[in-house]
Amino acid sequence: MIQLIRGFKDILPEEIAVWQHIEKTARSLFADFGFKEIRLPILEHSELFKRSIGEDTDIVEKEMYTFSDGKRGMITLRPEATASVVRSYIQHKMYAKDPVQKLYTIGPMFRRERPQKGRYRQFYQIDAEVFGVNSPFIDAQIIFMLVTFFNRLSITDLETHINSLGCPECRPRFQKRLLGLITSVKSELCIDCEKRSTKNPLRVLDCKVPTCKKAMEDAPSILDFLCKDCDNHFEKVKALLDKRQVSFVVDKQLVRGLDYYTRTAFEIQTSLLGAQNAVAGGGRYDGLVKTLGGPAQPAIGFAIGFDRLVEIAGINKEDFISKPDIFIAALGEKCIDTAFEWVCTLNIKGVKCEMDFSGKSLKSLMKKADKLNAKHVLIVGEDELETRTVTLRNMSTKKQVSIETDSLVESIQEVLK
Ligand code: AMP
Repeated sequence: MIQLIRGFKDILPEEIAVWQHIEKTARSLFADFGFKEIRLPILEHSELFKRSIGEDTDIVEKEMYTFSDGKRGMITLRPEATASVVRSYIQHKMYAKDPVQKLYTIGPMFRRERPQKGRYRQFYQIDAEVFGVNSPFIDAQIIFMLVTFFNRLSITDLETHINSLGCPECRPRFQKRLLGLITSVKSELCIDCEKRSTKNPLRVLDCKVPTCKKAMEDAPSILDFLCKDCDNHFEKVKALLDKRQVSFVVDKQLVRGLDYYTRTAFEIQTSLLGAQNAVAGGGRYDGLVKTLGGPAQPAIGFAIGFDRLVEIAGINKEDFISKPDIFIAALGEKCIDTAFEWVCTLNIKGVKCEMDFSGKSLKSLMKKADKLNAKHVLIVGEDELETRTVTLRNMSTKKQVSIETDSLVESIQEVLK
């Protein structure tokens, strides 16, 4: 039998209610905060990710699903959404209409990571990006929006980590100092860190390998190297979060795995997931729009790990399973014919109504109604059709009412009110 590809998964009908509930909560959150949806292709030119995420990142170095598109060159299954949103912002000159754009998108991302709990090769993200706003107010606002989202889902076991990654003016001074430390502890670092230390020393701070973590314990804090503007920006973000009573931890180790971040970086972590403890992450990327060929417009965004959210949301699936309002137990061919008409009419009117077409006995039809958790069963036999009166049974109270078939739809709607 052909099986799923390793690291991929099916989201089955019995799980979908939770996904839909989370998605609905996200969409209403975005509407409340003035975000508009954008839907983007899953395939992009590989160049887009190389130039945005960075050649020396794990994602671009070893995790992308890249293949040839013949003469059109190399294409990649998107490993994240930000690069595509930026490409679209530039390509459609959204900035000309209004540089300030608040966009969100929900969909699958692909990374060839080592599969484990909470880490898949196709996973889903809820992604939000804001373009054209330099002010620290927007940094605070989108962190506040994220926290509001988790509150609305009643997820409480969370910690918001924030840091500033500085800007091209102040970051090099920090990188230089960091490189000094890295060189002195090089023998203690993992192979990846050894390789990335010269090209991308910041990433060493982010490494989860215990020996690297230990070696970098006394690393300097980038916050001590920020230029005046970056420092003021970060102080304001913190003050605004305090004012909104959003609790957070300043985490000097937080650097995020992608090259394009500047200034504010943040991550929402939970203890409920084990090793893969991040449920959402994001930050500012003030240089990316220009890097990708657009005008110099600041930007900030985040991505929520949808799959991880489903795992920690603790939503009772039963609460979301759709139950039929009515199950019609039709006995015999003639009754099935008539019941079919009723089902169609009731469905048009928005009544969740189902039936079985196989002509089974009343006993097995009642069993089926039970299995479906139908709220009411309408029993239709030849006698009922003759007397033009059917019986509607409430499955939880066991109460039965007689309904005239001539006014069947109206009577059912009345009962369901
Ligand atoms: P990133 O784009 O790496 O900043 O990731 C943002 C969020 O997406 C993370 O905080 C995770 O919750 C989620 N995520 C990233 N990679 C994976 C993966 N391989 N499987 C499942 N979720 C992921």
